[in-house]
Amino acid sequence: MRRDEILNKYNTIKNNINTIKQKYNIDYDINIIAVSKYSSIETIKEFLSLNIDLPLAESKAQSLRDRVGEIEKFKNNVKWHFIGRIQSNKVKYIVKYSDLIQSVDSIEIAEYINKEAAKNNKIQNILLQFNISNEEQKGGFDINSYIDVYDNISKMSNISVKGLMGMAEYSKNSILIEEEFEKLNRVYKDINLKYNNTLSILSIGMSSDYELAVKHGSNMVRIGSSFLGSY
Ligand SMILES: *Cc1c(COP(=O)(O)O)cnc(C)c1O
Repeated sequence: MRRDEILNKYNTIKNNINTIKQKYNIDYDINIIAVSKYSSIETIKEFLSLNIDLPLAESKAQSLRDRVGEIEKFKNNVKWHFIGRIQSNKVKYIVKYSDLIQSVDSIEIAEYINKEAAKNNKIQNILLQFNISNEEQKGGFDINSYIDVYDNISKMSNISVKGLMGMAEYSKNSILIEEEFEKLNRVYKDINLKYNNTLSILSIGMSSDYELAVKHGSNMVRIGSSFLGSY
């Protein structure tokens, strides 16, 4: 994709977010994550040359590793998020290259991440992914267990729990999507109430539903297909 196309898409997303912020009197910043998992390396480089300072996100450990290596030669200080299913044998790469792991969805994986982060002398920032849809394959902790999950993982010495992540179900029914987002927003607020405002990130919203997510408290949207797009 060409640079001017990418810039246009970015401006559209920003304008849409600003419209929603005004409509609902939202005064905090909404962070945009440029999901690069469908994009060619050339498109990523075009994007980076615009000097819009946004984190990139990948959903496969192998791609993360390859792309960090490739992009390091091109630009310094690019931040990467991991947003995909985490396999224990790939935790090594994910911890090495991720500023924020958004998709932690089991205690066991958190333990692996904690151990690997300790080895690297790193405090790993993570989000807890909760399943807010009725789709099993979306992954995520059971939403009803959030206090146990938070208690357990926030005690791990080399992990810092920054917030929550979720995905609404793929549906044209915006009421359903809004209900799912609101479920996670309530959990986010409840943890902050019980634990002295410990969380700062509510990561909900993708290309098809980010405006609904912002309406329901999102301060981080992860946008792929309508931003850096596909090959
Ligand atoms: C792929 C992906 C996205 C981006 O999805 P789009 O619909 O292309 O914007 C966001 N979040 C997660 C967890 C993803 O896997």
